Amino acid sequence: MTEEGAPEATDAERKMRFLYALRSRGVTDARVLTAMERVDRGHFVRGHFAARAYEDMPLPIACGQTISQPSVVGLMTQALNVQPRDTVLEVGTGSGYQAAVLSLLCRRVYTVDRHRKLVADAQRVFRDLGLVNITAFSADGSFGLPDQAPFDRIIVTAAAEDPPGPLLAQLKVGGIMVVPVGQSDTVQSLIKVTRGERGFDYEELRPVRFVPLVEGLGND
Ligand code: SAH
Repeated sequence: MTEEGAPEATDAERKMRFLYALRSRGVTDARVLTAMERVDRGHFVRGHFAARAYEDMPLPIACGQTISQPSVVGLMTQALNVQPRDTVLEVGTGSGYQAAVLSLLCRRVYTVDRHRKLVADAQRVFRDLGLVNITAFSADGSFGLPDQAPFDRIIVTAAAEDPPGPLLAQLKVGGIMVVPVGQSDTVQSLIKVTRGERGFDYEELRPVRFVPLVEGLGND
C-alpha cells in the first residue's frame, strides 16, 4: 500500500503511465517508444531513488550527476532520427540509460564519460542486459572519439557553451547531432545540428536543463 492507502501500481500500470507521460510530452515516434518500453529504467537508478525510476523526472546518480528525465531522453532520441545501420556517439554516459535506448535503434553505440566509475557501472548493466553493441570509454568526450569517427549521429547529454568543434568534425555528411547549448546551470537550448554537403544547419528545438560539459577526466 502507498502512503495514501491506494494499492501499489502493478508493473503493467507503471509501464502504461510511463509511456503515457512520454507521449503527452511529445514523444510520438513508434520506434523510440518501443525502445523505451523495452529498456527498464529501474536498472539504471540505484538506492532509494530506484522507486522513482518510472516517473518522468531526472534523478541523482553517482559522482554528483543525473540520469535525464525520460521524456527528454525520448525527445532527444526522436530528434536524432537514428537509423538501424547507424553508428552513434554519445557524450555523457551517466547511468547508461540513454545509450541503452539508442542501442536498440542502431548498429553500434559508442559512449564516453569523464567519470570512470559511471562508465564501469554502466558497463556492468550493459553486460547484464546483454546489450553487446555498446562500447563505453572513460574520456573527455568534448574531443569525440577520433579512432571510431566519423559518426552518423552524435548526442551530447551535457551542456556545452557551443557545439564542440571536434564533434562537428566527427559528424558524417548527412549526419545529425543533438546538443544542449548554453551557459551551465541555467536553462539551455537543445540544438539539432545537421551536416550538409556545404556546411552545418542549426535548429533550436526546446529549452532543456543539463549538467555542464566539464573539461578533462574526473577523479573517480
Ligand atoms: N546520458 C546520461 C545522463 C548524462 S548526465 C544518462 O542516460 O543517464 C551528463 C554526463 O556527462 C555526466 O555523467 C558527466 O560526467 C558527463 N560529462 C560531463 N562532461 C563530460 C566530458 N567532457 N566528457 C565526457 N562526459 C562528460
